[in-house]
Amino acid sequence: MKKNLLFCLAVLLTTAVSAQDRPVIGVSCSWSPTEISVPTTYLDAVSRAGGLPVVIPLSNDPEILKQQVGRLDGLVLIGGGDFDPLLFGQEPMRALGKVTPERDAYDLALIRLAQAKGIPLLGICRGHQGINVANGGTLLQDIPSCYGKPSLKHQQSAGSVHGSHTVVLDRQSVLYGILQADSLVVNSFHHQAVDRPAPGFRVTARSADGIIEAIEKADGSPVIGVQWHPEALARGGDGRMLKLFRYLVDRASALKK
Ligand code: MN
Repeated sequence: MKKNLLFCLAVLLTTAVSAQDRPVIGVSCSWSPTEISVPTTYLDAVSRAGGLPVVIPLSNDPEILKQQVGRLDGLVLIGGGDFDPLLFGQEPMRALGKVTPERDAYDLALIRLAQAKGIPLLGICRGHQGINVANGGTLLQDIPSCYGKPSLKHQQSAGSVHGSHTVVLDRQSVLYGILQADSLVVNSFHHQAVDRPAPGFRVTARSADGIIEAIEKADGSPVIGVQWHPEALARGGDGRMLKLFRYLVDRASALKK
């Protein structure tokens, strides 16, 4: 009995020590007037990559967000609905989906605070688009009606653990260094996309129709956006997609020291 107790204590202590070493990775949330939510796939991916996931509740109080980001070593921006096009200088087209001004303000504030602090940033789907908007780029409000060229199906009907179209990576990119692949089959759940990349950013992956599927900071600093959902593919067993989260966690650890 005593031996068991000692063993349990030892396990607890070991866990406590390793948890202390984990960099704190903020994860943004979805919002409605009565609740916030985060799919567990994002939290699991951060944990599996060695990070300590912490959900950042939506607040439109800049001081609260500033203090929250002040405690973080890295940040993941999750997916969601459309950005208000007024934020990138355009009037709303008829095909624009639902916008949530509270969420827009929160996402853009998180991105700007994280970049000002210099912590690594991984934007996923809406998060990737948000990085572009926050830095002065534009979005296609609706691919089928705005792109001007025939496009692929970017709103797949298969479940999110399955890929549905190919992306080709730029060999000179940080993204290529992480994923080590010329092309990948990814999942796709978007009707908006990055149109004009923000100043200081480069395109790092495109689908066969030319749609921008990934961007990153051109100076090589760890600010990366992907249009697909690596956390869902990782849940489905695609170990390569976990490398994106490992990169974020590794960079967060390195900058913390
Ligand atoms: Mn796509």
